[in-house]
Amino acid sequence: VTDELTLRRPDDLHLHLRDGDLLRAVVRHSSGPFARGLVMPNTVPPVLTATDAEAYRKEIRDAVPAGHRFEPLMTIKVVPSTTAETVRQARAAGVVAAKLYPEGVTTNSADGVRDVMALALAFAAMAEVGMVLCVHGESPEAFCLDREARFVDHTLPRLVDEVPDLRIVLEHVSSATAVDWVRSAPTGLDGRHRVAATVTVHHLLLTLDDVVGGMLAPHHFCKPLAKRPEDRDAVLAAALSGDPRFFLGTDSAPHRRRDKESAEGCAGVFTAPVALPVLAEVFEDHGALPRLDAFTGSHGAAFYGLAPNEGTVRLVKEPWVVPADHGGVVPFRAGTTLRWQFVDGGDQGPTG
Ligand SMILES: [Zn+2]
Repeated sequence: VTDELTLRRPDDLHLHLRDGDLLRAVVRHSSGPFARGLVMPNTVPPVLTATDAEAYRKEIRDAVPAGHRFEPLMTIKVVPSTTAETVRQARAAGVVAAKLYPEGVTTNSADGVRDVMALALAFAAMAEVGMVLCVHGESPEAFCLDREARFVDHTLPRLVDEVPDLRIVLEHVSSATAVDWVRSAPTGLDGRHRVAATVTVHHLLLTLDDVVGGMLAPHHFCKPLAKRPEDRDAVLAAALSGDPRFFLGTDSAPHRRRDKESAEGCAGVFTAPVALPVLAEVFEDHGALPRLDAFTGSHGAAFYGLAPNEGTVRLVKEPWVVPADHGGVVPFRAGTTLRWQFVDGGDQGPTG
């Protein structure tokens, strides 16, 4: 019986850290277990340029507790005014990805993009400088459960076809249609995968029943919505398969309790505090524990062209109860007992 698990220090390749007080309240839940996080740019105001990204990176670094070694991987938000020059300057400032939100599709996306191909020059610049395009792949005009499938059928093929060297991550994949599409997407001329997908913790577990099937569960409300059991099972199978195109991006998205338990509740699940313990349970329950390390520690880094992290983290099989609240934010699985526990004391690797 395995009662201890050692993983390469993991990457969270889709993360919302917010700013100000909320950033300071939540960042330790990512900077403790994770070596790096790809930090989403949909703050208020958003991160649009190299200058914005540098300022936000500094704010995050200043908020990380002493003793944690955490590298925020910065992104900019693609908006109608994003140009090739915006992209080049951002890349020069170390920005690794740009995030595309269709207009109006999720938190703070009212300034999102309506006509994706109007940005072809910016996308071409991204391909040229080696910046990844991260896509919130939902078409807002479709019925809510069909938005991802519509995006995958209508918009994603155009992006792939018309910007030949662009590398794309379909974020928080949530439907069988999207999983199948990622699996069948064309590779680049160099033979490398051009399309990959992040997988959240909560989309491995939830269906729409867990959101609205009984009492309304606002802390399970997220975009894209958790869908049918067969969609959840397809996402799960992709994560467990060891296919390098599927890797962890938690989409941990903290909102204050009052903003979730509200007449106009915000979308997002705060999974950072439980991500590794829940993943260990899921992978173990499906006999795939040996594949967890690659899902959290190497597939994503490889797609992004980043060196894998050095050092390890440790989990032990020791039941614990998830707190009801972390600084005014309700974590995923709050109040429930998890059997794996993250413990400090892994090898953080060489400092530098
Ligand atoms: Zn997100």
